[in-house]
Amino acid sequence: MSKAVAEKLFPHITKTDQDYETLYPPREGVCVRFAPSPTGFMHIGGLYTALVNSLFAKGAGEQGAFLLRIEDTDQKRQLENGVTEIIQTLDAFDIHFDEGASGETSDKGAYGPYRQSHRREIYQAFAKHLVEQDLAYPCFCTEEELTALRDRQEAENALQKGYFGKWARCRDLDEAAVLEKLDQGQRCVIRMKSRGTEGTSRVYHDIIRGDISMQENILDAVILKSDGLPTYHFAHVVDDHLMRTTDVIRADEWIASIPLHVEMFEMLGFPVPHYAHLSPIMKLEEHEGGVSRRKLSKRKDPEARVRYYEEAGYPIQAVLDYLLNISSAAYEPWREEHMDASIFDFPLDLTKTGVAGALFDFDKLNNIARKRIAHLSCQEVFDLSRAWAKTYAPKLSAFIEAHPETYLRSIPVWHDSRLDVARWSDLLELYPYLYDQEYRPGSEPLPESFDAHRAFIPKLLGDYLETFDYADDSNAWFGKVREIASKYQYAVKMGPYKKHPEDYNGSIADVSSFIRFAVTGRLNTPDLHAVIHVLGEEEARRRVEAFLQRLA
Ligand code: GLU
Repeated sequence: MSKAVAEKLFPHITKTDQDYETLYPPREGVCVRFAPSPTGFMHIGGLYTALVNSLFAKGAGEQGAFLLRIEDTDQKRQLENGVTEIIQTLDAFDIHFDEGASGETSDKGAYGPYRQSHRREIYQAFAKHLVEQDLAYPCFCTEEELTALRDRQEAENALQKGYFGKWARCRDLDEAAVLEKLDQGQRCVIRMKSRGTEGTSRVYHDIIRGDISMQENILDAVILKSDGLPTYHFAHVVDDHLMRTTDVIRADEWIASIPLHVEMFEMLGFPVPHYAHLSPIMKLEEHEGGVSRRKLSKRKDPEARVRYYEEAGYPIQAVLDYLLNISSAAYEPWREEHMDASIFDFPLDLTKTGVAGALFDFDKLNNIARKRIAHLSCQEVFDLSRAWAKTYAPKLSAFIEAHPETYLRSIPVWHDSRLDVARWSDLLELYPYLYDQEYRPGSEPLPESFDAHRAFIPKLLGDYLETFDYADDSNAWFGKVREIASKYQYAVKMGPYKKHPEDYNGSIADVSSFIRFAVTGRLNTPDLHAVIHVLGEEEARRRVEAFLQRLA
């Protein structure tokens, strides 16, 4: 095409590609970016991509830059407050940017604007430049014409489908015809004029996957849509060049686009960045034909949404640990040696991250989270769970806010001896008898193991209540339990009992279990004396009394 066509298409564009080159000078160090589209709740895969980018920038030292670019050129799919949602989510996971969108309309950094919808003129300047050089052209084909073209390609069984070569009707329109159509106000998109040759393959390099041989691009891809906004492909190339991105780390759904992107970079005379395509997180799905792997889907899997982890109360750190764990075999041993280190100190080696998408594994996540919670101090557990409960668990929050000291005292009871809390929502599930103010033991069915003792339980517990003194320490308290056991011919020592069970009505373990069940509705709890001292004298007594009434 020509300058005349370029001028007619973009009369309002006065800045040249060179102006932008000057405006955004090359950087000294590494620059990476996270480039989400604000189309809804963030996917866990997006959080993973952001985390890896952030680690990569940190690994590059002082000069490493990490930026947040908002890819909002698909206006139909935008969500109100989508940008705030992204920023808040990343913030909650301690992922911070050096530059980028900082609010619904604000930016920070010298390479902005960082929102594609605010960069319309920049893309148009580069599209204009390509049209001037006959490397891009306006295409007037209508939707119907494009559908007809696809149908013909189907009918001919064309190996390669799409808009290219002989199929690209507008590619070789002469200048006069183009100018005339533009004068008539015909709608058009702008397409690049691919210089690729069908059937020619080329080797592209990916940091994670190594060399990949693919057919070079031959499609005359659309670079500007009829609304003047760029396609993702063109915007990515222009933005990553002008923002001076050195490494593009993104989801592997874009691998197939590498030939197109590389051709665009080359056509524009830009250096091509390094690419790293991250494997997705997968899930096993059972169906009639068997089991297959698929990507975690926002629509089908609650765990695909980042908010899910916040709502369940997984510690942020555990979720981040989990994500790196599934991607890099080197992470777990590193973490075990550096439990207190910031995740951002992990020396990430992208070449060692997995190529096959890892399966999402709740057991693994829960294990990591349990270890993380066990590693926190009781004060940290108190602060984190309290803050979580305020937003997500009104019942637990009501308890904590009414009895903060009791809550703080209760934490060591389970925290120091058990590895069972993986997320704050487990607290009410596992310890309703401690934290649910409405909890009344009694709804749980009596354990079968109690059947043989029905005649003794009221006597044992009656004596227990009579001798109960809240001031007793653990030894004194248990001493009394032993005495009661002896009185009713329950073995106090397990050795003799195991040898001659017929000589006894039961053992001290049975007696403890009756008290335990009366107080907690469970047969397995942390140290019972400690539990009693969290509940307080009145409640601890009341529960045993209520249990006795139930048996009566
Ligand atoms: N907006 C694209 C996405 O959300 C970003 C891809 C990229 O990082 O280049 O998938």
